[in-house]
Amino acid sequence: MGFFYVGIDDTDSPNGMCTTFLASTILNELEENGIEIVGFPRLIRLNPFARFKTRGNGGVSFKIDSKKYGLDEIDLVKKIILDNVEKLSMFDCDNTNPGVVFYQGEITEEMVDYAFKAIHEIITISEAEEFASKIGAEIHKFKKGRGIIGSIAAISCPLQDYTFELLAYRDKSKYGTLRCIDYDSVVRMDNETYGETFENIDGKYLAIEPKTPCPVLYGIRSNSPNVLEKAKEIVIPNEEIVDYCIFKTNQHTDMHIQNVDKIENMKKYGCYKVKGVVKDNPHVIEGGHMFFTLSDDSGEIECAAYEPTKNFRKIVAKLKEGDSLEIYGGIGEQNTFNIEKFKVLSLNNIVYENPICKCGKRMTSAGKNKGFKCKNCGNKLGSSDKIPKEINRELINGKFYETPVSARRHLAKPLIRMNL
Ligand code: ATP
Repeated sequence: MGFFYVGIDDTDSPNGMCTTFLASTILNELEENGIEIVGFPRLIRLNPFARFKTRGNGGVSFKIDSKKYGLDEIDLVKKIILDNVEKLSMFDCDNTNPGVVFYQGEITEEMVDYAFKAIHEIITISEAEEFASKIGAEIHKFKKGRGIIGSIAAISCPLQDYTFELLAYRDKSKYGTLRCIDYDSVVRMDNETYGETFENIDGKYLAIEPKTPCPVLYGIRSNSPNVLEKAKEIVIPNEEIVDYCIFKTNQHTDMHIQNVDKIENMKKYGCYKVKGVVKDNPHVIEGGHMFFTLSDDSGEIECAAYEPTKNFRKIVAKLKEGDSLEIYGGIGEQNTFNIEKFKVLSLNNIVYENPICKCGKRMTSAGKNKGFKCKNCGNKLGSSDKIPKEINRELINGKFYETPVSARRHLAKPLIRMNL
């Protein structure tokens, strides 16, 4: 019974706070009381389609070696956590329903299954409560206490693949004001660390900088914790960083992606990798959203590259009926598959054209199954068969294409991490 686990979720709102900042505040207070956690605190991203998420649907967890501390100290840990959640959560927001979970014991297989369920499916508060009672976890619900769903998952989630994020926090007086991080310094940091760090910058867009009034000044993501200290040294924040904390996380691991063999086996609010054939040429609708239909023997699904995916839509626009793809993404509210990335399995490089007349002009249809006629010389052809022509395609067989950093999900594994 080596570890005492803590899970915290649902403390923030669009108007402020961030569960990572709350966790970091708690960790500082634990340290002041001589209590250390084991390893890094963890930031676990859950189902991107969970209905009540504020932004990226993340829960936080950490563990303490309970052999090192007496019961009084564990009680103190609990008190520090609950007091801070009580003091700092954004209770005014209807959708902020914090949940704290304490668990002493081993992470069991059923807990791992629960974590995957929280990443792949939707879980209710009562389901989470029943599960907590089954595993003997202690739950603390504030208001509706929805956060217990994510807190149990944050404790239980295995991390075979993982990344790190360094989160730097602002002084309270700066909350809600414009962030003025030095752009050139971020470019420099990216130049010196990219590959080990990623998702730093996207043209003029500073991806490390949140656009919300939360306490985070910036977040730098990486494969290892060491490079983060170097990256932090390079970035010029242009305001005081009052604290920072490195989290171990399932971000950028594709942990949300489930393999399915058939389109018909995909469900709403799930994220998948699926193969299929482009059924119609992509088209744009009002608002700049790009759509096409992907089909296989079992059925079809409408796939979307929405306006925020910017130039990715230009790549999607190059797809053509008959192209064979493996696509990654998830099925959202509109029952549409939001594409995160795709691999070209094979390109249809044949187009069928009307024949050229012996006079040199292209013939036109003479009516359904009535062959072709030439408007120039009046010549007629009995056969309705079009002529196949090979064309050059701009897309490349076997290549992956992904959404830009600015439109990428926290969980989506960027190509830079895929050893391609
Ligand atoms: P931030 O990214 O700023 O931390 P957030 O997007 O994580 O915010 P939360 O405030 O944590 O949003 O709210 C998400 C809520 O959804 C939490 O109450 C969490 O317990 C719950 N939740 C997480 N996963 C699921 C799931 N699979 N099914 C149902 N609810 C879930």
